Amino acid sequence: MTTIIDGNEIADRIRADVSDCAARLADEGVTPGLATVLMSDDGASETYVSMKQRACEETGIEGIHRVLDPDASAETLLQQIDDFNDDPSVHGILVQMPVPDHVDSQVVLERIDPMKDVDGFHPENVGRVVTGDARYKPCTPHGIQKLLEAADVETEGKDAVVVGRSNIVGKPMANLLVQKAPGGNATTTVCHSRTDDLAEKTRAADVVIAAAGVPEMITGDMLSEGCTVIDVGVNRVDADTEKGYELVGDVEFESASEKADAITPVPGGVGPMTIAMLMYNTVKAASLQSGVDVDL
Ligand code: NDP
Repeated sequence: MTTIIDGNEIADRIRADVSDCAARLADEGVTPGLATVLMSDDGASETYVSMKQRACEETGIEGIHRVLDPDASAETLLQQIDDFNDDPSVHGILVQMPVPDHVDSQVVLERIDPMKDVDGFHPENVGRVVTGDARYKPCTPHGIQKLLEAADVETEGKDAVVVGRSNIVGKPMANLLVQKAPGGNATTTVCHSRTDDLAEKTRAADVVIAAAGVPEMITGDMLSEGCTVIDVGVNRVDADTEKGYELVGDVEFESASEKADAITPVPGGVGPMTIAMLMYNTVKAASLQSGVDVDL
């Protein structure tokens, strides 16, 4: 029987723990604060930011939301970040990506105070993950570690294949998997669009993490019997639905679940975990900045 790993249920449990920690901070006079900045009129970005703000409300985190005109200058965005860096009621800052082309996203990420960088994308925080001294693990890969842990999937000594090498998913995922730490200790291969014979790599893997952004590219015949499959992909494909599209992952669920022992669905797998881990990092940030230990 294939186990379908329920990201909604696992995320709910994490959010309940994070809520408890937020309440303990509030008892000590510290309300965790997350500032989000949206500089885009893209519908998907608006949806992501509003989901994050709603999660704040449900977790006992004060959400502060700023919308900037996509035509505003880069300096306007950097000034907004500086203001949040200087505001002690703001413990976490998130600039929703992508930003407009005239804004250099790397400059933006590096402007955020590393202590408030709850996405974990500042080079200082990236470096700390690589050296095994993580302050804030990036939300999606951290969420995947939590999913694997909750599903009792051991990574130690296993062969893991990560499909995708982006800075937000693929590379940090691989960095976590190779760490000498729980949820790591895997022999890890990172694949990308220049990989020769991807199927040969995925077939040799105990754990496959698909983060390529290509609808249903991982099929059952590319997997070994009894493996674990984590599908990060969120792809809109045309469909005869009210919205005119449906969401599919990077994995062809039906054929893959015939091979896998455990698999995440799309939606309802990795997605809810990403937001739960953002709340986790925000409460951790409030704890680190206030000196009130909540044991997260
Ligand atoms: P990017 O587009 O930044 O990176 C995609 C990666 O996949 C690249 O490294 C690319 O290789 C590789 N790739 C593309 N095509 C192939 C292929 N045919 N074979 C092998 N590798 C390939 O995407 P992201 O990492 O930002 O996101 C990946 C997916 O995950 C997307 O669907 C995104 O929507 C989703 N996502 C979901 C989240 C969630 O919370 N559920 C959070 C973040 C992302 P190369 O480097 O050579 O171009």
